[in-house]
Amino acid sequence: MGDKSAPLLSAEDVWARMRAAAVVVAQCEQVALSDAPMRVLAEDLHATVTVPGFDNSAMDGYAFRAEEARERREMPISLRVAAGDSPGVLTSGTACRIFTGAPIPDGADTVVIQERCERRGDILVLPEKWTPYANIRRAGEDIREGDVVLRAGQRLTPQAVGLAASCGFAEIPVRRRLRVAIVSTGDELRAAGSGPLHKGQIYDSNRPMLEALLRRLGCEVHALGALGDDLAATRQALRAAAGAADAIVTTGGVSVGEEDHVKTALEAEGTLALWRVAIKPGKPLAFGRVGEAYFLGLPGNPVSAFVTYLLFVQPFLKALMGEAQTGLQAFPVRAGFARATPDSRREFVRARLTVQDDGAVWAHAHARQGSGVLSSTVWADGLVDIAAGRVVAEGDSVPFLPFGGLGC
Ligand code: AMP
Ligand code: MG
Repeated sequence: MGDKSAPLLSAEDVWARMRAAAVVVAQCEQVALSDAPMRVLAEDLHATVTVPGFDNSAMDGYAFRAEEARERREMPISLRVAAGDSPGVLTSGTACRIFTGAPIPDGADTVVIQERCERRGDILVLPEKWTPYANIRRAGEDIREGDVVLRAGQRLTPQAVGLAASCGFAEIPVRRRLRVAIVSTGDELRAAGSGPLHKGQIYDSNRPMLEALLRRLGCEVHALGALGDDLAATRQALRAAAGAADAIVTTGGVSVGEEDHVKTALEAEGTLALWRVAIKPGKPLAFGRVGEAYFLGLPGNPVSAFVTYLLFVQPFLKALMGEAQTGLQAFPVRAGFARATPDSRREFVRARLTVQDDGAVWAHAHARQGSGVLSSTVWADGLVDIAAGRVVAEGDSVPFLPFGGLGC
């Protein structure tokens, strides 16, 4: 498989070329916070408030002034402040019943938690030891007025949405959604639900998988179905998709077999770079443009499509969205398997993690690493990244790319 005349490139080279070609979508829009999840922030958000806006109690307990309580263990309770109250001033020499989130009244500077105190009617009995100025959350502990709350390029994770809300933002500026067209190619493909398969046919797994991946990324997906292995139909589909999408992602047909028409169609309708990427699984990857749209042609084998999507398409689309963090974050784990003979291609091994009693994290390889074994991607927690030419012995430290961090 693969076009032997296409250059064989490292994953880094491919990514560098794609990154250089990525132009961030220019249009921005103001959206309600409820529509902001998974969008990408278009401008820095500056706080117009301080959060929290007042010193408040971190615990249910009693508040008083440390200076006044040093020489005594008992104090009359003269005030009660709950969350949401606006207290006045605490009378000197007295204590205040206080609850979590309640403002610390003027005149108090310390909270002792209720479990450590005794109460005799309206008299507070302090424990022998307590810490002055403790259990108070200071005004501005989280955000100060004028701070940059969130930076342009931040993906609006649920936490980021919560943070924006904590600063009172009801609407925020985001980049417009990317429109991505997806097309499967192959005469053998049938859509699930379209009836039983004849011998030689398979259900199209790439289209629903890509659709799910792209939706998670916050894209507007135009699923254009499956194309037969036919040049005219492929050309026409590319033309139609280019008019309506920022990017077109196809699977299959990117080799140079007689039945592979994507390359020829793309050369006719736009511009094409076809690379053999020195990775396993993966290999052929087409990249180019049709009109204004970017074109990304992935291999047909479902695992190869999945892996090349994660390594190249997702970071590329993130770059188009203006997201600051596009790359993959690996962490070291112990290999629960060996690779005795070096491979000239960088290998991404589907693996599942276990944590041993000593706290070490081990990655166990799925027994079937074939590029058609999609069940391995469901079983796995992520990919072990084995550099080209590397020999791995069991127990060696290897980089692991978690699917969670990849958004799947
Ligand atoms: P190709 O890249 O077109 O040569 O396809 C490589 C392999 O992937 C072949 O076995 C195809 O049947 C299979 N394949 C291609 N597209 C899909 C798809 N959308 N869903 C499942 N398998 C596919
Ligand atoms: Mg095919």
